[in-house]
Parts: sequence; structure tokens; C-alpha cells
Amino acid sequence: MLSLAKIRTASLKDLQKLIMPSGFYRQKAKRLKSFSNHVFSGHGSLGEMLKMQLPDLRSDLLSMDGIGNETADSILLYAARRKVFVVDAYTKRIMSRIYGLEEGIDYGKLQEYISSRIGSSLELYQDFHAQFVELGKNYCKTKPLCNGCPVKLYCLHCKDSAAD
Ligand code: SF4
Repeated sequence: MLSLAKIRTASLKDLQKLIMPSGFYRQKAKRLKSFSNHVFSGHGSLGEMLKMQLPDLRSDLLSMDGIGNETADSILLYAARRKVFVVDAYTKRIMSRIYGLEEGIDYGKLQEYISSRIGSSLELYQDFHAQFVELGKNYCKTKPLCNGCPVKLYCLHCKDSAAD
């Protein structure tokens, strides 16, 4: 089932059964079907779709049900291999703690802030996003584990907590 063509022809019920462990399986199965239909009827193939100009491809992805900024940018970064930084909840939390930025900062503003400082390699964009996820999962949790955090020397939140 690991191809869009198979997902497109599978029954909704079979798809639901297969992805059940991922949670929200009914909604996700519907979205997978509509994504595969969109790709084939609108573009002929995934390869053709991913060749579109970046702004057009991003708008096309965002026009689909269930695809927001983070999902669109994840597809752009990993599937289409475009230099687009993915801002997720971990990124917002970590950046707000390290630099004292507002946690509710606008997606586009934070993306621009990071992209303008990150350098120009695709691998760096991918790795940097993965590092945010690792840091968020292992240290910068809802209740942060600052002892042992690899960036604690640079973190405003950690300095403020130590001063308390
Ligand atoms: S030092 Fe603490 S608050 Fe700062 S990034 Fe690490 S875990 Fe988060």
C-alpha cells in the first residue's frame, strides 16, 4: 500500500484498517484518498506534481483538505526536496524559550526568522528540523528538562530559571 496508486484504488475500509494504529484513522484515510485523487487527476503523477514551481506547489498543497502550513512544508522539504523550513510546535516552544520569542508567533514570521539564518543546504534544512524534534521530545518538553540539554548555555529560559 506504499504507493499513491494503490492508495487511490484501495477501499476506504481497507485503508482505515491499515492505518488504524496511527490514530484519527477515519479522517486520515479519507484525506489520503482525496490526496491521491488530487495528485492523479490534477497532475498525472506525484513526480509531475512535485516539479511545480515552489509557490504554486505550496498553494496547491494548501488547497487540499487537511493540509496546513506544517504538513505542506513537510511535503516540500522531504518529498519535493525544497529548501523550506518546517515550523512545528516544538520549534515554536524551543525558539520562544531560547530567544524569548512569543510562543504564539506567526508561522511565516518564525519560518522567515530561521530561514534567513540557516544557510543554504537542503540537508541542513532537513537536519535542523529533525534536531528541533529531538530536542523537543527529549529535553524541551512541556516541563523542560534543562539539566543535560545541549543548548542550555544559550537559553534565556534556562538562565531565568537558574536566577530564580
Ligand atoms: S535549556 Fe531548557 S528551556 Fe532551554 S531549550 Fe533546553 S530544555 Fe528547553
